[in-house]
Parts: sequence; structure tokens; C-alpha cells
Amino acid sequence: MVSKVSLNPVLVDVLTMSMSNDHVEIMKKLSKPKHDEDIAGELGIKATIVRTLLNDLHAKGLVEYDRMKNKKTGWYTYLWMKREDKVDEYLDGYLQETLEELNGQLESEKDTAFFGCSCSKVAMGRAMELNFMCPECNGALTEFNNTKTVRQLNGQIAKINRILKKKKK
Ligand SMILES: [Zn+2]
Repeated sequence: MVSKVSLNPVLVDVLTMSMSNDHVEIMKKLSKPKHDEDIAGELGIKATIVRTLLNDLHAKGLVEYDRMKNKKTGWYTYLWMKREDKVDEYLDGYLQETLEELNGQLESEKDTAFFGCSCSKVAMGRAMELNFMCPECNGALTEFNNTKTVRQLNGQIAKINRILKKKKK
């Protein structure tokens, strides 16, 4: 499901990272207020899936709804709309939080030697307490080469910084 309506490119990046492409498509469909059933029809997916996606977005404050009772059936219908006013706050919050988290992880990877077996990974102090033997699998805890982890973290940090730069433009 891909539609052509444009959406704030930074929002697209962040939604893709933090949620999924499907959430991006839902946001694109909300260029004007719509009922969940209509979005489902337009995207060719089940209304229950659309509602789940909308609820995820609602939990982040990115959409809101008006609930209306159908007088004939007694059922409720929901008219969903985007909250443009909340987008910036969400983006800043997500990007800053993620960046702090990644930097914290990077610091701890740099400062601490980690030891691992096939099933777990522990810091050096803990490995010493365990006499370098894993209580789960009885395997030896050997020093963990974290070069790959550090490289991945640096890559993720660079990605967030690129998005932050794009956002400032
Ligand atoms: Zn183990």
C-alpha cells in the first residue's frame, strides 16, 4: 500500500523508524478527516487493521477522533483526523529521546567490557561474579567483541542526526 499524497518528510522518516510504513500510509490518507472504514476501503485492507494502526497513532497524540452514534443502528462511528499541531512535539520528543538512549548505549559499550556465551551478554563485573560461566547454559563467558555493536550504534546515531538536520531546514 503506497499512495502519492505527500507528508512531512521528517514525519515519514520517524514514523517508519518508530512504527511502520503502514502508519505512514494511514497518515497520508488523513489529509482530510475520514472514517476508519473509508480508509480501509481506500487502502484495500481490513478495517480492524486500520483501527489498530489508528490507535497506535492516537497513543502518540498524532490523530484524534469524533465519535458519533448512528441513530438507526445505535452503533458508533469514528471520524479520524490528523493533529498537525502535535507533529512537531512528537518528532522532537522521539528524536531527542532516541538520541539520548543511543548515546547512553554507546557510552556503556565503550566503557565496559562485556562477556558472552551463546545465550547471554553480561558486563565484566557480573562475569567475574559468575566465574565466567553462564548459569543458563553452563557455557564459558568469553569477552564479547563489541566492534559491530559500536558500529551499528554509530550508524543509528548518524541517522538520527541526519533527520534532525533535515528537520531544521
Ligand atoms: Zn549461556
